[in-house]
Amino acid sequence: MIKQVKVLDYGSVTLEDFGPSNVELMVVNSARVSHDKHVTELKEEDKKLIEFLLRNRHGTPFEMAEFWFHIKCPIFVTREWHRHRIASYNEMSARYTELPQEFYVPKGKDIRFLKGKQGDYKYEGIDDCQILEYANSDFKHVHRAAWNAYQDMLDMGIAKEVARMVLPVSIYTQFYYKTNARSLMNFLSLRNHPKAMWEIRQYAKAIENMFHMVMPHTHNAFIKSGRTAP
Ligand SMILES: Cc1cc2nc3c(=O)[nH]c(=O)nc-3n(C[C@H](O)[C@H](O)[C@H](O)COP(=O)(O)OP(=O)(O)OC[C@H]3O[C@@H](n4cnc5c(N)ncnc54)[C@H](O)[C@@H]3O)c2cc1C
Repeated sequence: MIKQVKVLDYGSVTLEDFGPSNVELMVVNSARVSHDKHVTELKEEDKKLIEFLLRNRHGTPFEMAEFWFHIKCPIFVTREWHRHRIASYNEMSARYTELPQEFYVPKGKDIRFLKGKQGDYKYEGIDDCQILEYANSDFKHVHRAAWNAYQDMLDMGIAKEVARMVLPVSIYTQFYYKTNARSLMNFLSLRNHPKAMWEIRQYAKAIENMFHMVMPHTHNAFIKSGRTAP
């Protein structure tokens, strides 16, 4: 099972753990308790039950399955991620820890134009090499200036919690993310979606592959029900 995937330039998703060990059996048994039933192995009818639960949005049995991830991503991705409230988080503290010099710089094809109007936005890649070069040098220039200012303040003995204020949201952070399969499907439906920001979508894709490895029947049923979280 793949447990770690590199994402963007310095980022990663690590599946630290999941539980219980026979996770889909737990989902099925917590649904079957309604009829005082219990099974010891997953049969064809149990896979159908998982599909039924997804289709009819009986979500609570999926709360029995839990996932623990370690995420390394830019702060602007974290800002979007932490809006998902049905989860537990612990993040590296830039009050106590000096941040590493790791800034996200989008690659040429990932620097994009916004086209369209409110409610119907589209993003388009940029062919104009001059614009790409300008953007790239702006990123580098701002990152260098911000990093130098951060280091200068730390050298003067200024507290990390103050010095960090000059750093841009492209700098990397890391956090632990614990959630259950129901909330994870909600995250995937919103963030592994063409309308989601490209950068967070790369993380959601990595997570979705891991979700499939751990809960293949649930994941298949999620897709079959139009990627709607129960
Ligand atoms: C493409 C995109 C654009 C976005 N743009 C913006 C934006 O411009 N500004 C902005 O502020 N946010 C924006 N968001 C964030 C969005 O509004 C949600 O905060 C975020 O996606 C988390 O979704 P959630 O509430 O379903 O997840 P969670 O917080 O994990 O909640 C999961 C589910 O639990 C239930 N729930 C949780 N809390 C409550 C509650 N208090 N009351 C009732 N039910 C609850 C809901 O059913 C919810 O769907 C955007 C998200 C996406 C995907």
